Amino acid sequence: MQTQILGLLTPLMALVFAATFALFWHLGRMNRHVLGFAVSYALFACGFLSTHFLPPEALYVFHATQAFYSLGCIVLLGALCERAGQRLHIGSLAFVYVVSALTLALTTSLSNDVGPRLVIVNIGYGVMFAMGVTTLLTARRRDIISVAIIAIMAFQAVDFLVRPTLTLLFERSIPAEVYRDSIYYSLIGLVLGVKTVSTAMVLLGATIAEWAKDLRESGERDPLTGLLNRGAFEDSMRDLIPRAQTERRPLSLVVADIDHFKQVNDIWGHQAGDEAISGFGELVQRTVRGCDIGGRIGGEEFCIAVWNCENEPAERLADRIREAFGSLEHAGLSDNIRLTASFGVATAREGETYRALFARADAALYAAKAKGRNRVENAERELPGEATQEPAVGARALRKASA
Ligand code: GH3
Ligand code: MG
Ligand code: MG
Repeated sequence: MQTQILGLLTPLMALVFAATFALFWHLGRMNRHVLGFAVSYALFACGFLSTHFLPPEALYVFHATQAFYSLGCIVLLGALCERAGQRLHIGSLAFVYVVSALTLALTTSLSNDVGPRLVIVNIGYGVMFAMGVTTLLTARRRDIISVAIIAIMAFQAVDFLVRPTLTLLFERSIPAEVYRDSIYYSLIGLVLGVKTVSTAMVLLGATIAEWAKDLRESGERDPLTGLLNRGAFEDSMRDLIPRAQTERRPLSLVVADIDHFKQVNDIWGHQAGDEAISGFGELVQRTVRGCDIGGRIGGEEFCIAVWNCENEPAERLADRIREAFGSLEHAGLSDNIRLTASFGVATAREGETYRALFARADAALYAAKAKGRNRVENAERELPGEATQEPAVGARALRKASA
């Protein structure tokens, strides 16, 4: 009776975990691998239920269970490899399943003893998990959760490869009719329960961590351009400037503003204006490197922190964006209309704060506007007319940086 209850507990827990992963995937709009966790747990539950409910003497019981478990393993390992950015060779796992299923069919036809059947199917699962672990080990991502996932998968591989043989050393032969009364069956109920829960806890931890990260990042991003919003950009700069000084790396700041943007809204409407802002954002995303940071700091105003970049290359980067933006087509605007943007560039000085660096880059941007727009001005060179414009520029820049 106890064994019967324990046998039901594991599939029920697996179904609850499947539903939990499915909910996370659906409500949190999470990546496909979380759906993979849900599907694999549902398949494991079907496997556990077939072992529990199908008649033990029926020849197809082991085949049905093996099909569900193997598919569950393939989906789970595929999802984990996708999460780690690695491609699992599904064909190799399917090959292991086919070989194992054929050997199982042969063994079942030759003997009524379930011992050899158990060894065959479990070795199949063990080999699949070992293949999954090998693929996961090639991934570059090595945070604590990824290490925990690799550890639990390695534990699964070892358990499947070693446990059946060890148990069957004690219980030499198990006729099919008495399989559910065997020591092996009582042990498997316990082991599967423990493995189901421990694996689900690790996967749940990974899912919750990813969900929290997504939430945090979506709060930091501007929805129109996908760039950091002003607050997040300023926070990043407050981390980046001291880091650049400690590591003695140059850090440049590009500030950009779309020219005569008010007219775009006035002539073609707000929607067309939004398209142009989004186009600028995409261009910045495409142009900068992964270590740089792009932000939308105002309506049609943008900032780029160019990491480990001296002043002149940063100026060239700004000019490349300026040129590319000048030739971009925008939905909602007449075909022959092109927009332009003006840019200011500054490079962080020893001990300079973000506020002071921004003020200098913004002053350069203001000079670019004053000199006719659609150009890049560099704060590290003397800005023409600086003496007369400085008070106004300084006031404008400070207002922005402190807002
Ligand atoms: P300048 O060349 O000197 O930069 O002139 P400008 O017209 O671009 O500058 P101004 O600051 O006068 O106008 C900016 C306009 O940007 C005003 C505002 O309505 C518009 N704007 C701000 N945020 C958004 C937005 O999210 N979407 C759209 N469509 N327009 C926006
Ligand atoms: Mg503007
Ligand atoms: Mg502006």
